[in-house]
Amino acid sequence: MNLLTIQGISKQYTVNTPPAVDDVSFDCKPGEIVSIIGRSGSGKTTILRMIAGLEIPDKGQIKLYEKKLNSASVFVSPEKRNCGLVFQDYALFPNKTVYQNITFGKGSIDDPEHLEHLVEMADIGSLADRFPHEISGGEQQRVALVRALATCPKLLLLDEPLSHLDPELKESVRSKLLTLLHSTKTTALYVSHDIEETMTMSDRMVVMRRGRLEQVGTPDEIYKRPSTAYVAQLFGKTNLIPRHFIPGHAHAFTDDMCGHEVVPTRPHQWMIIEKPSADSPSFRGRVQSVLNCGAYQEVALETKDFTLTLHVTHKTPVRAGETHTVQWIFPE
Ligand code: ADP
Ligand code: MG
Repeated sequence: MNLLTIQGISKQYTVNTPPAVDDVSFDCKPGEIVSIIGRSGSGKTTILRMIAGLEIPDKGQIKLYEKKLNSASVFVSPEKRNCGLVFQDYALFPNKTVYQNITFGKGSIDDPEHLEHLVEMADIGSLADRFPHEISGGEQQRVALVRALATCPKLLLLDEPLSHLDPELKESVRSKLLTLLHSTKTTALYVSHDIEETMTMSDRMVVMRRGRLEQVGTPDEIYKRPSTAYVAQLFGKTNLIPRHFIPGHAHAFTDDMCGHEVVPTRPHQWMIIEKPSADSPSFRGRVQSVLNCGAYQEVALETKDFTLTLHVTHKTPVRAGETHTVQWIFPE
């Protein structure tokens, strides 16, 4: 059975603007971590706010197990939904200590062992008597997570919870978050616009574009078999090669820009090669530019029919103006 079922929800804030969320359906199984990913303004926060009961959908239905939270005739108020919320600004009570913050929610101190476990996992035990302004951003966000999990929510809604943290902190809070979610078997819906962040932590991903659902799948499916150019390009530069240049069974989709079938290939899947083998596509072209990107060089190669972007190691000598042959190293 699904823990969360969303069927055809829509939300338009003002009459003369397109809907923020347009006929979106997906579900979460118990214990799953599902991410909602998409560019800024694609409707991610609006979906979360509708599930939390902070926004009323114009259409559609939201169910938590068999219980309807929203439909044409039903509206369950936010505090009765049993959803925990963590937003990007930590939203701790500034005049309460860490301990007072994490024990604020209803039912949070009914199970002291559970609370103690959370505090230990999140490593915030030594901060109990401090106020939010006396702890760092990463610590504040860990406190916010413990506060949300302390009430044992059926569903935890996280809206870009790590986006205000600097990279090293992000990494450590993310791994603590994952440990907390797994050890408490909490089902979570995780909103982000950072594809790498969501790849590593989700069981499934929901990709949003301009209010509409673009693709749903496991991180592996989304990465290897994107169904549109938008999804492919969420992972960074992607070479969309017209299908007829790549015979065989490579994954392809119709690109809405050109109307043709294209095969998405990543810059790191190409190699400069002296003698290409016959078993995978190769192209010859002139190097337009070489950019030093630190860990690799980004090369733009102009072939007869298209321009390819490829990433090659510094061990491969390559200069603008040279002619090279490149070969596609199959992703699978
Ligand atoms: P995301 O979280 O993906 O960035 P949002 O759900 O916040 O997207 O916003 C989706 C669209 O709805 C955007 O165009 C945004 O400007 C608009 N929007 C969001 N909240 C409101 C609001 N309270 N009133 C009017 N428009 C809004
Ligand atoms: Mg948002």
